Amino acid sequence: MVYFVGAGAGDPELLTIKGKRLIDQADVIIYAGSLVNPAVLQDVKPDCRIYDSAGMTLEEVLAVMEQAEQEGKATVRVHTGDPSLYGAIREQIDALDERGISHAVVPGVSSFLAAAAALEKEYTLPDVTQTVILTRMEGRTAVPAAEQIESLAKHQATMILFLSVGQIEELVRRLCTSYPADTPAAVVYKASWPEQKIVTGTLETIAEKVKAAGITKTALVAVGRFLGDAYTLSRLYDKTFTHGYRQGSEA
Ligand code: SAH
Repeated sequence: MVYFVGAGAGDPELLTIKGKRLIDQADVIIYAGSLVNPAVLQDVKPDCRIYDSAGMTLEEVLAVMEQAEQEGKATVRVHTGDPSLYGAIREQIDALDERGISHAVVPGVSSFLAAAAALEKEYTLPDVTQTVILTRMEGRTAVPAAEQIESLAKHQATMILFLSVGQIEELVRRLCTSYPADTPAAVVYKASWPEQKIVTGTLETIAEKVKAAGITKTALVAVGRFLGDAYTLSRLYDKTFTHGYRQGSEA
């Protein structure tokens, strides 16, 4: 059995109870050493075999999983944040299916959620936006033509950009084709790690501030008026609004 476990954004206390239990009981662990906080592995079994996937190919990862399976061992593949975002788990799962090896996925706290927590902001504000776009700018990995930054920017929704802080100047230029230049923006570096940094500004100022802070990777760019101060109060807790769980009073 192979478990894909989301390790959370960095703080080991953001591991789910289930993820922590599986890691602590694992015989074999393969983790992405470039991003996963080694502290999530602090309570593994003494004889647990640990592999850092940073220097491994897909074939090598699969070979470790296959070997462990033949020995009847429990394998945990640890991914940063949640495995469903830029985790490259699909190719591993399909290869396990071909080999008849069973698998399960345990979700984790994605960095985009840890970033919202660090900012203490809500991505969906009434009358501001009710939509969150999670995306990336193309780098060495292409992005489909229909999802170019310029077309996504047209919605002026909350947008969270992974894997793109290194190209922040180009990113800002492309976002500004639709977002006004005074739209608030924030960059969260290493959300939930001890070395976490937050840089805030507008689309006009953020690139310069990020450069000044020396941030080039392991950061998210968040853009949108959810970072501003204008919004309306929610209807959910409005005393005049009736819903399934509460009778509203007269206005
Ligand atoms: N599956 C992960 C994303 C992996 S892609 C998740 O759910 O978070 C790697 C990118 O995620 C990084 O380039 C960076 O943009 C972002 N990232 C990962 N951990 C981060 C953290 N703690 N703080 C800010 N950004 C992070």
